[in-house]
Amino acid sequence: MSNSTQTLLTQVEETQLQELQLYQQHNRELLSSLEKTQMEVFFLNQQLAELESESMHHDAEFQDIYHELNALQALFDESPNAIGIINEHGKILKANQAFKTIIKALPNSNGQLFVTSFFDKRSKLSFNKHLQHALEMGHSSGEVTLTNHELMGYNLIKPAYKEVNTELMLSINRMGLDSSDSFLYRLAKLAVEQIKEGLMITDRDYKIVYVNHSFSEITGFSYQEAIGQSPKILQSGRHGSSFYENMYDELNSKGWWSGEIWNKRKSGDIYPEYLQITRTLDETTNNVFYVSSFSDITSRKVYQQRLDRLAFFDSLTNLPNRLSLENHVENLISRIYPDLHSIFAFLFLDLDKFKAINDTFGHSEGDAILVQAAQRIVASIRSDDFAARIGGDEFVVVLTRITSKKDVIQVAEKLIKSLNEPFNVKTSVPHHLGTSIGISFFPEDGLNLDDLMRRADAAMYKAKADGRNCYRVFDHSLEKMAEEEIRLLNLVKQSIRQPKQHIKMHYQPIFRQGSNRPVAFESLIRIQNSGEEHVRPDRFIKLAEDNSLISDLGLAIFEQVCCDLKQSGLPTDLSIEVNLSPMQFLNDGLLEDLKSVATHNGVDFKRFNFEVTETATIENLAIMIDILQQMRTEGADLLLDDFGTGYASLSMLKNLPTNIIKIDRSFIMDLDSSEQTPKLVLALITMAKSLGLKIVAEGVETEAQKQWLEENGVDYFQGYLLGKPIPIEEVMHE
Ligand code: C2E
Ligand code: CA
Ligand code: CA
Repeated sequence: MSNSTQTLLTQVEETQLQELQLYQQHNRELLSSLEKTQMEVFFLNQQLAELESESMHHDAEFQDIYHELNALQALFDESPNAIGIINEHGKILKANQAFKTIIKALPNSNGQLFVTSFFDKRSKLSFNKHLQHALEMGHSSGEVTLTNHELMGYNLIKPAYKEVNTELMLSINRMGLDSSDSFLYRLAKLAVEQIKEGLMITDRDYKIVYVNHSFSEITGFSYQEAIGQSPKILQSGRHGSSFYENMYDELNSKGWWSGEIWNKRKSGDIYPEYLQITRTLDETTNNVFYVSSFSDITSRKVYQQRLDRLAFFDSLTNLPNRLSLENHVENLISRIYPDLHSIFAFLFLDLDKFKAINDTFGHSEGDAILVQAAQRIVASIRSDDFAARIGGDEFVVVLTRITSKKDVIQVAEKLIKSLNEPFNVKTSVPHHLGTSIGISFFPEDGLNLDDLMRRADAAMYKAKADGRNCYRVFDHSLEKMAEEEIRLLNLVKQSIRQPKQHIKMHYQPIFRQGSNRPVAFESLIRIQNSGEEHVRPDRFIKLAEDNSLISDLGLAIFEQVCCDLKQSGLPTDLSIEVNLSPMQFLNDGLLEDLKSVATHNGVDFKRFNFEVTETATIENLAIMIDILQQMRTEGADLLLDDFGTGYASLSMLKNLPTNIIKIDRSFIMDLDSSEQTPKLVLALITMAKSLGLKIVAEGVETEAQKQWLEENGVDYFQGYLLGKPIPIEEVMHE
């Protein structure tokens, strides 16, 4: 091989080698760049993976926030607290359900956007101030009154979620009802535990969930024993199942029940309680509860029974009282009213002389008589008739099932006979009373109790006026009489209260035989209403006696007499005769009373000559004699009035400490006309003389009468012939 070839070959080879080298170099470079790229892809991938994971994480976070927001929204919407968002002007931007509920309930809620439009005027001003305060300071709270007058508390809060904002959260709630207000809650709990009423709360299945302290006190069941039980543990067995069914029916329809109920204690004791149950809805949990409060009324019941008895029965005689009478008659009338053919009789009974015995022998004696009288009345009527005591000695008998008025008369007679029997009570003296009965009939004398009563009463007065111990049936002429009596009775009462205005005493002279100058004057009462005519004593003395007014009237009379004597200066040698009613002797202090009146008027008690009639009952005669004796000891004289009309026996006359009798006017009047009378008067005169008594004749109207009396030994004369009763001023002029 040539060098040249060699050289040439070498050159080629060299070139090729260089090229190869270059190529290899390039390849290496490519490889490294590939590696680099691969690395880059790897990193990129890694980055991508990271990014992806990061994004997934964000997604979850977003979901969380989304849920949270929803929950918050629900919380906002369903919160029992009323919450709203308002702007700086008070405009409502958002409001939850509770907030809307409050606002909707208000009268002016239509289309109003500003919260202040739901507040009353004063609240508006204060709220706006608080609003400004909250905007500046972040929060504020206060109270407002809604347009429906409800008082509300509120909180204003500026939320921190925006740096600059003019929105405020407003929450409002009813004052005092917020149990989270721990002070009120504590107070309520304290009250519930301390009240005297038992308190029990059950759930909708009637299981006891709460009892207070008083519950345990009353029922004997402790808190632990009661909880979880049914209220049936308290059932007494005294009420049927329908009672409880009705109770729960009412409770669920009306929402409450109240009434009296018998319950049983743990000890088995049965007791009455007053129970109130209210069905309540707990708005927070939407659960129904029954709240029962009750009190033990055992003592009240006993008291009530006593009261009922007191209210309807007379405690002394055990007869029904006036209230029962009213009920009885009302029932009777409503039952028979449609059929006016059936009648019933109304008997008004008044015991005669009862007041006198009561006053003389004391109330316990009087009470014993009333008890006996009640028994006799009940024994005189049929068991289905009705008897009541309506006051003092007044009784009413109602007779039904009567076929004619004759039946009624028979019963009235039976009653009179029975009550006329002597009453033997505590003291040894048997008491003789009597009864006056007035009768009225339904329907002819009245269609209601008032009329029947009034008319029976008028008839009873007539019976008394006709001599007592008898009955009278109402007729219309009695009504006028009754009215007149009422008028007179009032005048008597006025006279007692204001004697100077209403009492005008008249004085009638009394002469000794053969003298022209009076030795005495008899005082005779007249009463008058301003400007009206004088009323004579015949019309009202008995009325005053029957109505227990005579004692007071007698003193008023004596006061007037003493006044007249003092003021007129009538010569002191003229004695004054004063009439006393026998009823006045029932007053133990009569003598003391009279003496003190005389003394304080500066009139000598010895000037008086007291006139008494002999019509007094046997019982009070003893007392009367006793007082009369004392009067004589005091220097006053006594005169037996109306002599001949009463039943004064000779022996009684002997016992009376009197030395003068006055022959009654009724005898003198008949002296000229009747043949019998002069003989009778002569007998009276002889009798009086034989006892050594002086004699006055009253009612002397004619010369002939006077002459006859003079001839037959009468000592003193009184009558129109010699002088009429005249006022004291006229006496002084004569
Ligand atoms: P009395 O005690 O029998 O009084 C006599 C009555 O006869 C008086 O009636 C008198 O005015 C009247 N009289 C007197 N003389 C004659 C006459 O010649 N002819 C007629 N026709 N009447 C004559 P008076 O004043 O109406 O009194 C009636 C009765 O009222 C009295 O009857 C007496 O029982 C009673 N009385 C009068 N004043 C009082 C008094 O002050 N107290 C009491 N307790 N009773 C009195
Ligand atoms: Ca007289
Ligand atoms: Ca007389």
